Amino acid sequence: MGNGVSSQHISKKIYLEVAGKNLSVSFSGGCSSQELKELIATGAGFNRWSDFTLEDHTGSLVPVSLSIAPNTPRTPYRVQRISSATNGSTSDREIVNEVLSRVSEEISRAFKSQDFLHDFSSRLESLEKRMEALKYAETIPSRGDLENYHQEMSEFQTHHVGVPSIVLKYGGKDTDSLAPVTYPKINLSDQALESLKRPSANIWDWEPSEMLCLIEHMFHELDLLRAINTDEQTLQQWLLAVQHKYRNNPFHNFRHCFCVTQMMYGMIHLLKLQDVFDSLDLVILLTSCICHDIDHPGLNNSYQINAHTELAIRYNDISPLENHHAAVTFQLLERSEYNIFSNVSKEDFKRLRSGIIELILATDMSKHSEIMTSFKGIQPTLDYNNNNHKKIIKQMLIKSCDISNEVRPTKVAEPWVDCLLEEYFRQSDIEKSTGLPVTPFMDRDKVTKPSAQIGFIKFVLIPMFETMVMVFPQLEDPVLKPLKESLEHYEHLKLLEDAKLEQ
Ligand SMILES: [Zn+2]
Repeated sequence: MGNGVSSQHISKKIYLEVAGKNLSVSFSGGCSSQELKELIATGAGFNRWSDFTLEDHTGSLVPVSLSIAPNTPRTPYRVQRISSATNGSTSDREIVNEVLSRVSEEISRAFKSQDFLHDFSSRLESLEKRMEALKYAETIPSRGDLENYHQEMSEFQTHHVGVPSIVLKYGGKDTDSLAPVTYPKINLSDQALESLKRPSANIWDWEPSEMLCLIEHMFHELDLLRAINTDEQTLQQWLLAVQHKYRNNPFHNFRHCFCVTQMMYGMIHLLKLQDVFDSLDLVILLTSCICHDIDHPGLNNSYQINAHTELAIRYNDISPLENHHAAVTFQLLERSEYNIFSNVSKEDFKRLRSGIIELILATDMSKHSEIMTSFKGIQPTLDYNNNNHKKIIKQMLIKSCDISNEVRPTKVAEPWVDCLLEEYFRQSDIEKSTGLPVTPFMDRDKVTKPSAQIGFIKFVLIPMFETMVMVFPQLEDPVLKPLKESLEHYEHLKLLEDAKLEQ
């Protein structure tokens, strides 16, 4: 939290005090008030859904909004947890009502500005929405998993010297605690459903329960429940279980999964993939996106391999994470209440299983050149009746969706770079402190946002999407063009950065 990305885009830092401990939170002007609230909650060590109040040194309540007044380490805002989604001592409704009435009182007494009232009413709306989602929110993972992992790392450090050859305990999250509940049904506007089909969709607009409803909508709209002969309740329980399995990493979290899935859904419509793929292929595409980073620990393959983690040992250093994501996907489906494939024929299950495994494994970037070469190789004789050709196209599709953030408008894409760098920096900090090799693009002392993005867009994204455009010319305007604009944006930032350094 306090060690946010060192970038000129971090515009504010506030100081907090939680139960006698001090911390700071840095945030950019690009985030929303809700995200700031979640950032403070997780920084304070609460579940990110927890409600809390901030008090200044005079004891007055301070509203959490982007216009929050800067303070100093000597006058931190005191963070007090009001309720937690998992706190069962008082009813959730009572707690939220208490927060609302306390905040409301403070507002009418102390704040009169229109801006603030507007911000307050959106917060009120969001709190009300969360009331409905409380049942569901209980299943959202907390940051605790990553912290436990870090705890294991620091325990390791106190007992080992030199380069570790450790076998980290790797505990997947237990889904037994999941109650067989569904999430609240949310009425999705026509506008939201229309935007869902576009690569330019603002994926930050949607709360987690809305994301679940939107994914469910994709299955309905493409008529995929019928293709796998399953019912809505099983689909919902499976989606909840999948979401529960995603950890609260800065980048590899459920919202990333939603982004990739939404981009795939956009591609299905944009490229009219229903005309060339059958329903099972569409199920394979969507399901693979939904599960492609499930139970990601926030530490990449090179870390897994260098640290000799349990995953690296289990999978012999061969795509340890992607193998794990695929294995967890099918472990979940072993449970009858989550098994959306329980009614398909043996033959279809075999096809679904191998298709999903192939696609999840294809998201390992170490396979990038190999898959690109195969895709270029099939272009002259492309045949949608050829299963191998179809496999390679699907692999390219999931790969491109997985790394497609920069295709989105800058205000949607740029916060993801901060999230990714935060995850990288955490990893490189662990690597430095345990004597493991540090990848330069993950080192907080060496990388900046523009430098990280320029190379990636120029040498990975643009060549990949240009190759895609040769088969799917429809991607030129909605995908390739914004990507080139994004490159210009970061080149401009780089010039500003260089100029600042010269001063
Ligand atoms: Zn991913």
